[in-house]
Amino acid sequence: MADVFIALGGNVGDVRANFEKAIANICGMTQATLVARSSDYATPPWGDEEQVRFINACIEIETSLDPHALLFALHKIEKKFGRDRANEKRWGPRTLDLDIIAYNDVKLDKPELTLPHPRLFERPFVLVPLSEIAPDRVIAGQTPRQALARLPTAGIEKLAPLH
Ligand code: ATP
Ligand code: CA
Ligand code: CA
Repeated sequence: MADVFIALGGNVGDVRANFEKAIANICGMTQATLVARSSDYATPPWGDEEQVRFINACIEIETSLDPHALLFALHKIEKKFGRDRANEKRWGPRTLDLDIIAYNDVKLDKPELTLPHPRLFERPFVLVPLSEIAPDRVIAGQTPRQALARLPTAGIEKLAPLH
């Protein structure tokens, strides 16, 4: 079984409700067990600031799928929740984005799959939820807690549970 961290993001539609359903889909479609789920966070947009704020969260799962099969399943789930890659701007508005942050300690450097996620350590919107569930997990030589200590977190708001 592989220990995997996945980052969820979105800013179109009922994002928090979609997260709940997407997490259930991830576990169902990837034969995964949910190990941990962070709170949802409202975060300022990144990359393209001219858009509404995002909701972000992180989960940890245990899965028997290999990294590429997992990515394929995540893309299918994004599509199911209305993601339309062909017609979107890079880092622009989207219903659901599912990124593999880390897969065990696997390192991959391919355009279709880079592990750990290459922009992880520059993104407070990933590191804040990740630090909630795995502050001391070493990823590429550093922990989320250490990486977060170097970044500004202004504007990131932890949201109360939905139910
Ligand atoms: P970013 O990768 O900067 O967060 P993004 O999530 O907006 O940007 P997408 O359009 O969702 O980018 O994905 C672009 C491509 O990135 C996908 O087709 C996917 O194959 C590839 N990719 C590479 N590494 C990963 C990873 N660790 N997790 C998810 N997708 C990845
Ligand atoms: Ca992303
Ligand atoms: Ca993505």
